[in-house]
Amino acid sequence: MGYENVGRVWTLESFTQYLTTIEKPDWCEAITLHNTADPSLADFPNGLTLSYIENTRDYYINELGWSAGPHLFVDEDQIFGMCDLRKKGVHAKSFNRFAIGIEVLGSYDSEDPHSGRGLACWQNAAAVVRALLGWLGIEANEETILFHRQEPDAHKTCPGTKVEKGWVLGLIAAATVP
Ligand SMILES: [Zn+2]
Repeated sequence: MGYENVGRVWTLESFTQYLTTIEKPDWCEAITLHNTADPSLADFPNGLTLSYIENTRDYYINELGWSAGPHLFVDEDQIFGMCDLRKKGVHAKSFNRFAIGIEVLGSYDSEDPHSGRGLACWQNAAAVVRALLGWLGIEANEETILFHRQEPDAHKTCPGTKVEKGWVLGLIAAATVP
């Protein structure tokens, strides 16, 4: 099953170090960004927890029958692993075959990504994306940074109506990676 990294928790620094120890996949050309929506920031006032990751894995397996899930879950200062970055995940039907999937804590149809904890989560996510793009050897642009809602017939707002592509590309450009 594709849940090899459940139990791994990184900081930006240790995640960047981890990337130097694994081979980049030849199938990955893009990153797809999601928001967790439920849970929201308010649901996790101290950030994501390992038990949430474990429960989410169990839900994907037992309720949804997914063989894998997203690759990473990010909050304001932690990076939780779920699926092996070298293997295709399950997070956006049309993008799974060529994109790594990242879930950002928060519900950005209603919560604010531009200030406070929302901004901290998106800044951490942007730095993670920048580290991944460096590892993959690809540039950040409209084609390589995808939002879940861009999927044909997605009928979703993910990663939230308040999150705009140009703003996220700006955060990625401004991010510093250890
Ligand atoms: Zn999504």
